[in-house]
Amino acid sequence: MTDITRRGFVAAGVASVALVGVGGFGAATGQVDRPFVRPPGAESNVRLAAACNRCQRCLQACPYGIVTPVPLAESLVVYGTPTLAFEHGYCDFCMQCVDACPTGALSYGGTRERDLGVAVVVKDACVAWDWSGCTVCKDECPVEGAITLDDHDRPVVHPDFCDGCGRCEQVCPSASLRAYDASVQNKGIVVVSRASEAAHVAGSVTSEELASGRYTCASEPLAAHTQGVHPNGPQDGKGAGHENA
Ligand code: SF4
Ligand code: SF4
Ligand code: SF4
Repeated sequence: MTDITRRGFVAAGVASVALVGVGGFGAATGQVDRPFVRPPGAESNVRLAAACNRCQRCLQACPYGIVTPVPLAESLVVYGTPTLAFEHGYCDFCMQCVDACPTGALSYGGTRERDLGVAVVVKDACVAWDWSGCTVCKDECPVEGAITLDDHDRPVVHPDFCDGCGRCEQVCPSASLRAYDASVQNKGIVVVSRASEAAHVAGSVTSEELASGRYTCASEPLAAHTQGVHPNGPQDGKGAGHENA
């Protein structure tokens, strides 16, 4: 067991005991259930938290460096379990993280094998809401039909098609285009868990709705996509994907 794994276990254990000790059982279970965006094959946040031993092999296996541990500041209980960050890459469903996982926390089969979450447009960050001309997310989305443009050329995500691959979030240029406005922190489009409240906001979200709903559980998870087909990953669920840009 590596040092980081030991630290993860110790921190999670101490945090759980501390939370329960102060009457925070609800807080502890709430943190286990917190809707992070997970790598492929994580059937639910609860199941992943129970099965993952924080060995970090999925982090090491991802060729694009998008698998990252949940930081302690985000959750005391699921600290060290894998989540996804799309700053420098996106998921092409190469499944190397699943192949590397020794515990079955990430596994083949089930509705989440090819469904990471859903993209939501953040209307006060997306530049297409202020002036037309930016269609980068639609142009770069690898899943046909996942993003279309409305009558004002603003992006609209279709949850039935979107698989949460994160390409749109990676390439969204809103931060640099809005460099003059330090109050805008978010990308114009962000992937959230289908179990989050933010995924259930009709149309686009505000930054405020994203902040309050990104890690808050909805009463019912949004159904996994049924129509989108990611062209880059292995069609049979195993094998190597393509080069990430
Ligand atoms: S499927 Fe491949 S690209 Fe996606 S998170 Fe796993 S290792 Fe990274
Ligand atoms: S490889 Fe599996 S057990 Fe290890 S940290 Fe990743 S999800 Fe957890
Ligand atoms: S997350 Fe992927 S599939 Fe969904 S809209 Fe963004 S680029 Fe398209």
